[in-house]
Amino acid sequence: MTTAIIIGGGPAGSVAGCYLSKAGVRNIILEKTMHPRPHVGESLVSSTVRIFDELDFLPTMEKQGFIRKYGAAWHPTQGKGEFAIEFAEFPQEGVNQDYTYHVDRATFDHLLLQHARDLGSKVIQGVGVKEVLFDENDFAKGVVVDIEGATTELYADFVLDCSGRNAILGNQRRLRENDPLFNQFAVTAHFENVVRSHDPKTADYIHIYFLPVERGWAWQIPIDDETTSIGVVTEKSVFQESRRRKEEWFYEQVASAPDLARAMENAKQVDDFTTEADYSYSMRRFVGNGWMLVGDAARFVDPIFSSGISIAAESAKYAAQAVVQAIETGDRSEAALQPYEDRIKAGVSIWYEFIRLYYKLMHLFTYFIQSKEHRLQILQLLQGEVYDREKAPVLDAMRDVIHTVESTPGHLWAGHLTDIPID
Ligand SMILES: Cc1cc2nc3c(=O)[nH]c(=O)nc-3n(C[C@H](O)[C@H](O)[C@H](O)COP(=O)(O)OP(=O)(O)OC[C@H]3O[C@@H](n4cnc5c(N)ncnc54)[C@H](O)[C@@H]3O)c2cc1C
Repeated sequence: MTTAIIIGGGPAGSVAGCYLSKAGVRNIILEKTMHPRPHVGESLVSSTVRIFDELDFLPTMEKQGFIRKYGAAWHPTQGKGEFAIEFAEFPQEGVNQDYTYHVDRATFDHLLLQHARDLGSKVIQGVGVKEVLFDENDFAKGVVVDIEGATTELYADFVLDCSGRNAILGNQRRLRENDPLFNQFAVTAHFENVVRSHDPKTADYIHIYFLPVERGWAWQIPIDDETTSIGVVTEKSVFQESRRRKEEWFYEQVASAPDLARAMENAKQVDDFTTEADYSYSMRRFVGNGWMLVGDAARFVDPIFSSGISIAAESAKYAAQAVVQAIETGDRSEAALQPYEDRIKAGVSIWYEFIRLYYKLMHLFTYFIQSKEHRLQILQLLQGEVYDREKAPVLDAMRDVIHTVESTPGHLWAGHLTDIPID
């Protein structure tokens, strides 16, 4: 019998498989689709590099020639140029390169799944998990799968749900809580002939354009030398009230941001528009007896800072460590796995607080990027892997600015804050 069943062969599932195999734990990855398959989420943060390095996956990333991401740039709505930040300004401990990557997700996810197989995971594709099985003491004992129309049960000591926003186990156990603040909507497609920047240094950065609609922004992510991913994001209600078709709405938003409109002037769309919606939620619990929720299957926060894959990969690493420890102690109870949940919740809460403060400040965020005092701390957060709130004092500084603006009558910035609550 295999020791761990991993549901889903996205970044969370593959990374979990890699770490388990490296620790000598027999594991099987069940993936519903056949890779390569498309997926949203193409820009990585620096902390993923450490994981790729630990898994000996960096040579594959380099060989594939994914675009190197050296930084990020923000564009205010008025088209007044860009505010950029470069990873090299704040080298991360244990990360021996000053860049991370932008990826074509079909290729990246496929390579990572192959890597998991090479390290020892048994990978079965085209097999969807229908349900997680529990014994009479409420311990996970396996899964029900559909193989070519026939229903089969597979058994294991641990079940790791890495099924992304499908969240098979969280939904089965009714653990899902939709985010009370964010209900966003994105329209995205790939284009050729996008002028990525007039500054060659920032041409391969991720570019974020502020849009003049509620919580509106657009991403520009280079996928290869020709192709650029453009995505437009706002509150879902804003899109619904516009009564526009997604194509119309997309191009209206592009036209509303002067820098983006210029970048897209001669752009040629090379694939169909896709939409993503209702993507902010958290599961009430991330662990139970013999099971863990990993990556998007546990929680998904707004993608403004490209945090998704790093959270998926880091949570997979810590979930694998928790499995190894549980095997050593012979205790796979919910209580034994609880430290995993506490750690992941602490890390994601920091991203979430950062995101809320960002949406409160919106355009004023560029002040923090330019500020000598705060710039490096912003950069540290943007690089990922911060699990200790005390190591993120810039969040308090952002709060202080917001409180000063709100409590000072006639403050110059008063009209710039949005109405999102921050506590
Ligand atoms: C609009 C938008 C923009 C984003 N931009 C970024 C970005 O720039 N950078 C970034 O890092 N992240 C971004 N993300 C987030 C990123 O897409 C996810 O965080 C990341 O893919 C999570 O990885 P995962 O492995 O947890 O889930 P997934 O990548 O979704 O993988 C889950 C896998 O499980 C499989 N599966 C599902 N159900 C079953 C089942 N029942 N049985 C078997 N297999 C199953 C799926 O086929 C899939 O392959 C963005 C997300 C959105 C919505």
